[in-house]
Amino acid sequence: MSASLFRLIHCGDVVAMSDLFVDGELPATRRLEVQSHLETCGLCASVVVQKSALKRRLRGCVLSMEVPVWLHQNLRRLISCEREDERWQN
Ligand SMILES: [Zn+2]
Repeated sequence: MSASLFRLIHCGDVVAMSDLFVDGELPATRRLEVQSHLETCGLCASVVVQKSALKRRLRGCVLSMEVPVWLHQNLRRLISCEREDERWQN
C-alpha cells in the first residue's frame, strides 16, 4: 500500500482531465492528484505543457484581433435599425 495521500490515478484519467487542469477548473483535490501524477510521469506532463501552450497561443490570437472599422459601423447601423423596427411595432 502506498502512503500517498492521493488516490492513484492513471495516464488516461490525467489526459481526460488535462483540459480542465489547464483551464484551472478542476476541484482542488483532483488538481493535486493530477499534479502529483505529472511529477512522476513525463508523458502526461508533456501533454499538459502542450495543451497550455496551445491555449495561451489561441488566447493571444483572440486578444490581438481587432474589429475592422467598417464591421463596427455596420453592426451599429444594424442595431439602430432593429431599434427603429421595435419602435414602429409598438
Ligand atoms: Zn501519465
